[in-house]
Amino acid sequence: MNVLIINAGSSSLKYQLFDMKTEAVAAKGQCERIGIDGHLKHTPLSNGKPVFDEDIPLPTHSEAISAVLDKLTGEKYGVLSSLSEIGAVGHRVLHGGQSFSESVLINGDVIAAIEENIPLGPLHNPANLMGINACRSVMPGVPQVAVFDTAFHQTMPEKAYIYAIPYNYYEKYNVRRYGFHGTSHRYVSSEAIKMLGGGAGTRVITCHLGNGSSIAAVKDGKCIDTSMGMTPLEGLPMGTRSGSIDPAIIEFVANHEKLTREEIFDVLNKKSGVLGISGVSSDFRDIEKAAADAGDALSRRAQLALDVFRYQVAKYIGSYVVTLGGVDAIVFTAGLGENSAELREAVTSQLGGFGITIDHEKNKLRGQLADITGAGSSARVFVIPTNEELVIARDTKAIVEA
Ligand code: ADP
Repeated sequence: MNVLIINAGSSSLKYQLFDMKTEAVAAKGQCERIGIDGHLKHTPLSNGKPVFDEDIPLPTHSEAISAVLDKLTGEKYGVLSSLSEIGAVGHRVLHGGQSFSESVLINGDVIAAIEENIPLGPLHNPANLMGINACRSVMPGVPQVAVFDTAFHQTMPEKAYIYAIPYNYYEKYNVRRYGFHGTSHRYVSSEAIKMLGGGAGTRVITCHLGNGSSIAAVKDGKCIDTSMGMTPLEGLPMGTRSGSIDPAIIEFVANHEKLTREEIFDVLNKKSGVLGISGVSSDFRDIEKAAADAGDALSRRAQLALDVFRYQVAKYIGSYVVTLGGVDAIVFTAGLGENSAELREAVTSQLGGFGITIDHEKNKLRGQLADITGAGSSARVFVIPTNEELVIARDTKAIVEA
């Protein structure tokens, strides 16, 4: 079965086509500037066909999906002989609220529930719905599956997800911790459990560290706590997001800087994190470079941004050792977790109090599956490349075949 994976944003749409016999990606690409002017980059893989990378009009998501299908089946750029070769479509959906604890076949009820959760994911859910509705209209009859970023975290106990604010906000508006990157935490924790040889009661801490970052505590394959909250703004400092701060800072800064509610949240989402501290970049590669460049005026602040980030990662790991009653494995994943040996070195060097160490030579590996556990370490330390698209494709296939 071929499965098409769609990740729709408000003006973009990323896709990957999986051949599920081999789980290989047959083609991938993205539409950009939907509703503005339109651009499509399509990359057929494995058959040496040319890449399509051009401006084309994309007034809505429907035209974007049509253009993608056109490229997938066209003679020059295609990898399929006809549309009927697509057996199912899997959609990444940001916020499933309390409605979804696993992936589901999309029907009218599911669409209504994704709509009901728009207040919790006001930017993403409407865009995800545009992708779903476009596929339903352009490919009627092809089963569609929704895979939620929040679903894996629905197993958290109440004490982990209830905020200490008036309880009626939870009752009236579903204000609570949901957590994100669930597909990634699910995948890397299950891989880690395999690497540990399975067994009951395994305790794994998964660190998804990229542009957006979150950490999860996973016991027996189930999430019991995670760092992101009702929205992805909570928890670790990130590329441009502040992560957790004293909420009183919001009013203080808004008053002093004369910022509106929208402007202050724009600062917290887009101008904070390691970008805000360093003044250099939101990209960790740039910051690591600036920090290493001792002559640079911004070098000290770049190093400070790295120190703040790495300290918070280590603090979360420490707190989840408490949550889990110990730890069997710590996993690093996503852009930074997979690639930055320096980050893994700096974080694990703060875990000596737990007897956790890494092998400095093995840690030099980049972007590949690795067991970097140090000799005599009390817990294993793994680097496991995440693959959210593959998980979405597997869920989609399993649900459609069932
Ligand atoms: P997103 O959250 O957008 O999916 P990714 O998981 O792709 O992000 O991670 C992007 C981040 O990973 C960027 O900040 C990038 O600098 C960082 N990164 C990628 N490769 C490296 C590397 N070799 N060294 C340090 N940081 C890296």
